[in-house]
Amino acid sequence: MRCPVCATENDNSLTYCINCGSPLTQNTNVEPTTTTVKRKHKRKKLSQKSILLILIFGPSAVLLVFIFLLLIILGLLG
Ligand SMILES: [Zn+2]
Repeated sequence: MRCPVCATENDNSLTYCINCGSPLTQNTNVEPTTTTVKRKHKRKKLSQKSILLILIFGPSAVLLVFIFLLLIILGLLG
């Protein structure tokens, strides 16, 4: 794909020119939709992952805080 600004030959997978950094207009009509779809998929995956992380690390974090508080109370008493 040839850059419209500086006429440098760029790889077809590139979205920006290597030489001048201007956007290569080949896939501009297709890319925004695909990126938004990908973002939506990523968001779904991320939310599921975050829910899993909360489920896994939430209770352990609460336990850690509880143990920490117990240690502080024991330290204050002892
Ligand atoms: Zn260029």
